Amino acid sequence: MRSDWGAPIMIGIFGGTFDPVHLGHLAIADDVANAFGLAKVLFVPNARSPLRQTPVASPSQRFEMCRLATSDNVRFSVSRVDIDRDGPSYAIDTIRLLRAENRDCEFAFIAGTDVLDELRSWRDTDALLREALMLVVDRPGVDGVDVDRAASEIGIAGRLVKHRAALMDVSSTDIRHRIRNGLSYRSLLHHRVYDYLRRHRIYKTS
Ligand code: ATP
Repeated sequence: MRSDWGAPIMIGIFGGTFDPVHLGHLAIADDVANAFGLAKVLFVPNARSPLRQTPVASPSQRFEMCRLATSDNVRFSVSRVDIDRDGPSYAIDTIRLLRAENRDCEFAFIAGTDVLDELRSWRDTDALLREALMLVVDRPGVDGVDVDRAASEIGIAGRLVKHRAALMDVSSTDIRHRIRNGLSYRSLLHHRVYDYLRRHRIYKTS
């Protein structure tokens, strides 16, 4: 698929646990989409990250929260590609499945700087970065990451693009902590996600 001026269409793939999806996620997806002219950003909630603890909310609850959070942005959509298959969600499998549905598009992974440390342990990173560019966005609280150095150490220098987005110091971990401890969290979430969490009492206990 090509744009009006003949360049390949680029789709952003924004994978994560999204436990829950928050305004920091929406802000960087929007910022990156504008900066790189992405035709769309696909939020891809994982079933289970190979490198992280089991999420608190179920895959279908995390999918639903992503759906609610992205419903008023025409460039955003949510994919079930990871939650519909068993086992850990390896990015290389995700991208191959998405490739089958979007043959002629360019793909760009969107990730915060904290993900760079994990990238060394991802499965088949070389193949992955042949399939997709990696757009790395600064993350507040993750200081001192020399993205260029990390990229050349991993051997992906040419496939990694740094982007300085407007920073929002928010994380899903902090939101879960706030909910458990009765602290305010409304301003950190899309209003539909806030309503959903209140209705389903997700994160209240555990
Ligand atoms: P947790 O606190 O549970 O680790 P999280 O807030 O990091 O959750 P994830 O679902 O793990 O959320 O993040 C998905 C992607 O979004 C990752 O690439 C992460 O680096 C990025 N990200 C999350 N929050 C921010 C933020 N505030 N600024 C920049 N990137 C972010």
